[in-house]
Amino acid sequence: MTVHGVLARYADRLPVGPTTPRITLGEGSTPCVEAHHIGAQLGLASLHLKLEGLNPTGSFKDRGMVVAVAKALEAGSTTIVCASTGNTSASAAAFAARFGLRCVVVVPGGGVASGKLLQAQVHGALVLAIPGGFDAALRAVRELCDEQPFTLVNSVNPHRIEGQKTAAFEIIEELGDAPDVLAIPVGNAGNITAYWRGFREYHRDGLSSRLPRMVGGQAAGAAPLVVGHAVRDPETVASAIRIGDPASRQGAIDARDQSEGLIDAVTDAEILDAQHRLATQEGVFCEPASAASLAVLEKSVRSGAVAPGQRAVCVLTGSGLKDPDTVSRALQPPREVPADAAALARAILAA
Ligand SMILES: *Cc1c(COP(=O)(O)O)cnc(C)c1O
Repeated sequence: MTVHGVLARYADRLPVGPTTPRITLGEGSTPCVEAHHIGAQLGLASLHLKLEGLNPTGSFKDRGMVVAVAKALEAGSTTIVCASTGNTSASAAAFAARFGLRCVVVVPGGGVASGKLLQAQVHGALVLAIPGGFDAALRAVRELCDEQPFTLVNSVNPHRIEGQKTAAFEIIEELGDAPDVLAIPVGNAGNITAYWRGFREYHRDGLSSRLPRMVGGQAAGAAPLVVGHAVRDPETVASAIRIGDPASRQGAIDARDQSEGLIDAVTDAEILDAQHRLATQEGVFCEPASAASLAVLEKSVRSGAVAPGQRAVCVLTGSGLKDPDTVSRALQPPREVPADAAALARAILAA
């Protein structure tokens, strides 16, 4: 029988006990597909894409949310709360709907991609928009949850990171070993922290022969880990990583330094170009933040920081369908033609 979900698949490596409900929305077990065209262009031995947009709510956030929500249910909590650039709220709202919790999400006003906001609302969460960015929203909900009997499900909740590390396990299981390089977008820095933990855990237990170098991508206008201090008004088209003061800053720095990796900044133009090429050359439509992983890998190959001939994996963290507005600006509406074969043929020849 197929095992569904992160809790069932990795119970022995997660903080769950006999009284933890084994809930699932079918998260995890996402494919890791080879990107032949872009991998060859970069001179890599192989390039794989971990398609985290195929999780039930369209981003990797489901991996950690399932653990955080299971622990909240176990503890008898009735309300979960998060600050969110969008995907955390979509995931929290879906799990809350399914498992009978109240969900409150606090988003930066105007700073959330339309599809993500829609998800939180469709699943029945109470959505509150605050002035200011994600960092201000996170400060506010942390304070709120210190004072009220609510469970905070941001990645400062340690169960989130635990659940998210399972993606590293899956990569090792699917590829037979860890890659040489793992490229990943870095916003609040929970995910790079989680992957590094997962890779170290399997390596320690003899389930992989090597540890990857961790290559993190931040958007140039939101790159606190690159400039070395918090950024007051982070700005980037990649709203999921529009974060100026990452909560898991130290985890990201440890992942970078212990793995002899790097965290670098990529411009919005590089991010959108990487997103476009993933769509047109590899058939994968990811959201802009996700494409920062490929953009930073490409920059690292160009600079020589990553040598050709390596085996690399890019984590594509979320689905492109969440943020249609960003890409649609660069697209033309479909050309209108009469409904007959001759007109269709003329239009095709003229294209
Ligand atoms: C949350 C998110 C990120 C950033 O992950 P962090 O753990 O905050 O560094 C990147 N991409 C997408 C699509 C996300 O939803």
